Amino acid sequence: MRNILLIEPNYKNKYPPIGLMKIATYHRMLGDNVKFYKGELRDLVVDQLYQECLKKLVKIDSSIAWYLFATGIKQFIKTKRIDILEQLRIEKSPYQLLILNCLSDYSDQYKKKLWEKNPKWDRVYVTTLFTFYWKITIQTIEFAKKLVKDPDQLLVGGIMASLLYKEIEEATGIITYQGLLDKPGLLDPKNPKAKKIVIDDLPLDYSILDEIDYEYPTKSAYFTFMTKGCTRKCAFCSVPILEPTYKPKIDTADKFFSIKEKFGEQQNLLLMDNNVLASPKFLEIIDEIKEMGFVTGATFIEPNQLNIAIKNLREENENNNDYAFMRRIYRLLHDLMNRLKTTTKQNFYNTLDKYHLIKFETVTKENLLFAYEELKEVYEKYRLKSRKQRFVDFNQGTDARYVTDEIMKKMSEIPIRPLRLAFDYIGIKEKYINAVRLAHKYKIKELSNYILYNFHDSPDDLYNRLRINVDLVEELGLAIYSFPMKYIPLFGEEAKGRTFIGKKWNKKFIRAIQSILNVTKGIVAPGRSFFEKAFGNDITQYREILYMPETYIVYRYFFEDIGLTGMSRKAFNSLTPDEREFVLPIIESNDFSQVQKITSSKRLLQLFRHYNIKKEDVSEKDNDYKQLKSQFKKLIKNDQFIDLTLTYDFEDEKPRKLHRAIN
Ligand code: SF4
Repeated sequence: MRNILLIEPNYKNKYPPIGLMKIATYHRMLGDNVKFYKGELRDLVVDQLYQECLKKLVKIDSSIAWYLFATGIKQFIKTKRIDILEQLRIEKSPYQLLILNCLSDYSDQYKKKLWEKNPKWDRVYVTTLFTFYWKITIQTIEFAKKLVKDPDQLLVGGIMASLLYKEIEEATGIITYQGLLDKPGLLDPKNPKAKKIVIDDLPLDYSILDEIDYEYPTKSAYFTFMTKGCTRKCAFCSVPILEPTYKPKIDTADKFFSIKEKFGEQQNLLLMDNNVLASPKFLEIIDEIKEMGFVTGATFIEPNQLNIAIKNLREENENNNDYAFMRRIYRLLHDLMNRLKTTTKQNFYNTLDKYHLIKFETVTKENLLFAYEELKEVYEKYRLKSRKQRFVDFNQGTDARYVTDEIMKKMSEIPIRPLRLAFDYIGIKEKYINAVRLAHKYKIKELSNYILYNFHDSPDDLYNRLRINVDLVEELGLAIYSFPMKYIPLFGEEAKGRTFIGKKWNKKFIRAIQSILNVTKGIVAPGRSFFEKAFGNDITQYREILYMPETYIVYRYFFEDIGLTGMSRKAFNSLTPDEREFVLPIIESNDFSQVQKITSSKRLLQLFRHYNIKKEDVSEKDNDYKQLKSQFKKLIKNDQFIDLTLTYDFEDEKPRKLHRAIN
């Protein structure tokens, strides 16, 4: 049995690491011990040392229930602070000295980095995502090197590993795994058991998601692909590189039923297909989705998750993920307790307390099973059983160019929400509008789209595409949420960050769009009034907004009310042709730090003063801004699908799984 560690770097992302979930299934099939980690890697080391220390402490003095002091022991390992020892009450033990030595030894191992000399893991996998997570990904790989016994057993795969493999090798010395795990025996060619396994075809191990504190916003959902790759080769998209062969249909029902069996029925179906409409088997795909229970109007009542987790925990299987099931049970019990009231709550708490289930560190499998027997009826009585709508989401978007009447009609047989249509460039305008009209014809009412910008498009193209949506919403009475998404190159230095500027764009225009979208977290909501206020009534106003000082764009109402916006507009519009020629490149560079040095013109300096007003100078004095912000915050909180669609550019350090422009 090998010890396998799966790591996702500690960035915030929307979708769980599907690849690692399959790899977890694979290693369990081979009888290995698997752990998933996403978080501060130093804490993983502390946990590891704690587990070893605990075993030794039990050997030294088994009369003490050491696991009840988990938090204190971990803190001591981390800090070696003497005052922490008081909480441990070791002075009563006749083996006080041995205990002290043991604790001190483990703290030294941590603080003096002695653990690095004694790595524990037989194989470590690091998954990678967007290229602009370069820094944190490289740091993770470097740390992972210290965790693995043999450097050859550090396997780095995923999107960034497939695109920037040369750069990763240069930076870390690690040769990455590129592309898919879609052939048998790829990772362990010498292992006869592994020889026939195609990892990419395996069902996902959902249990690993319970091992970490991080919560993906996808909630109760099946994640799957029913096709692979794409038939097109858009220059801005990584799919043709990552998945070069188009597979028109992947059988899904079996995997789906095995997940249902093990982890219970899930509410929604999230399909990660890159271009499902290109499939000649699309009608069959929809039929299979319907067979899985996703027909228009389908509803869902959450099964008793506690019973499912307990059943999994009771399973006598050497490489069962007990740790994950214990964490799940613990969370379920606490979530329920938080919703209970008065005596029921108190009694529930008392039972948890009796079995040391108040803090996870003191939880044991045995105690969980005891507590379950006492709490299962209360749990069943009070757990949420409301009926919810089920939805299907092709979350990577669908290709409007393939939409026909027949396809849209078929799609309307499943509860699709939202229908995501790509509107990557203005050239597909007619096809896009046709697809939206067909959606309306077949009563698909919620649409959303990714609007790529900063590639070959111009700023006007962005406005025009957004405007088309506003007009369609008004004409057809649909809801279309648009998500502008900034292009980032796929390769090279520019792929490592988010600073790339397209040929027809400049720094100021990009910042202007980001400033508009920052207020709404990247969403362009349906509705003319919001759109026109944010982007202008027409293209002339829009261009004016692009040149407007950034702070004035964000705190639109505040600066309009106090008259500064009007003053800056007047100053800008009264520029002579010569002044414009001088001023525009400075504004477009979005760098106003040197203006005092390059001009002494009072008129120009007065204009530039507007550009130097900082956000901090106004804080949040604009009430409309605050209102709008909280409105969108609420919208995102209440709508999982909007949350999942947010484009990475408007939430610092919050990427999402959008393959299209990002990688
Ligand atoms: S953007 Fe869409 S259509 Fe173009 S290659 Fe990527 S997946 Fe295919």
